[in-house]
Amino acid sequence: MVNALVCGAGGFIGSNLVKQLKKEGYWVRGIDLKHPEFSKTKADDFVIGDLRNPDICRHVLDQPFDEVYQLAADMGGAGYVFTGDNDADIMHNSALINLNMLEACYQRDMKKIFYSSSACIYPKYNQTDPDNPKTAENSAYPAYPDSEYGWEKLFSERLYLSFHRNHNMDIRIARFHNIFGPEGSWNDGREKAPAAFCRKVAEAPDGGEIKMWGDGKQTRSFLYIDECLETVMRLMKSNIIGPINIGSEEMVTINGLAEMVMNIAGKKLRIKHIPGPLGVRGRNSDNQLIRDKLGWEPKYPLREGLKKTYLWIKKQIKKGKNKEYE
Ligand code: NAD
Repeated sequence: MVNALVCGAGGFIGSNLVKQLKKEGYWVRGIDLKHPEFSKTKADDFVIGDLRNPDICRHVLDQPFDEVYQLAADMGGAGYVFTGDNDADIMHNSALINLNMLEACYQRDMKKIFYSSSACIYPKYNQTDPDNPKTAENSAYPAYPDSEYGWEKLFSERLYLSFHRNHNMDIRIARFHNIFGPEGSWNDGREKAPAAFCRKVAEAPDGGEIKMWGDGKQTRSFLYIDECLETVMRLMKSNIIGPINIGSEEMVTINGLAEMVMNIAGKKLRIKHIPGPLGVRGRNSDNQLIRDKLGWEPKYPLREGLKKTYLWIKKQIKKGKNKEYE
């Protein structure tokens, strides 16, 4: 039986990755600071531990794993990453996790390691035109990410690549572009735009108003969780080291995203634009490399994924779990 360790198994992508690995017949151990928030973990073994501590990293690797998925990070949406208030934590915590985990994997001779980087590594100067952002993998340098979160991811990409080069470790690196879906953060201040608009629209009375940071003309693309996981699994089975984009090429404005949610909900709402943390002006996934190398790319329509997410968030609100964030 193939076995895997998932770091960050209590988080959104990690907890769903555990489910996917179990479906594929793996034995799975998860580690995180916390259990998954919205459903019971499917992991065979779940360790609560802090990966900033090198002893914990060695402890969870007390048996050989065929695959290690390193997704643990101090992260969140624009309200967490772009205000500047959490920069020291983001850099320090995530860098320590990667330094300690990778060193432990090397000492314990782990076979194959996946690292989740981010589209946030791409330079600011290539993402000023909302209609024509550049995110080809080879456009990452000269580096100029727009957040400390992006700088840490870039540093860690280089860390993993160095261990590959000098220690011959088998590495896979993906740059995720805005992954969303049910069971992700939606009301704790770390939620991303799709979940935030699903919540705002679900709560607003028909004919009412929702608030949006900025003018809404900035562009993004969003990838549904199931396709993200399918692509990760395909990447692990391939011989592509990366870094490679895992994202959707269906680019929308943030106004367009909000309109799509209203349409799904069958509500007409006014959008009130207010100042807030924004990030770059335009971003889309460039899937040329993954098409060429894997012969596969994510294609699930944004609207379908949003519909599932909207219905899930509506259900959470009904259960009375809303904590009232703006
Ligand atoms: P998440 O915040 O839901 O999951 C991250 C998990 O890491 C959390 O459960 C957290 O408790 C855990 N963690 C943090 N510090 C830890 C520590 N010291 N020890 C052990 N566990 C710790 O985020 P996610 O959306 O599931 O993202 C997973 C990975 O993918 C992250 O590395 C993130 O940077 C990357 N990524 C995500 C997106 C996205 O859109 N969701 C986009 C780009 C990159």
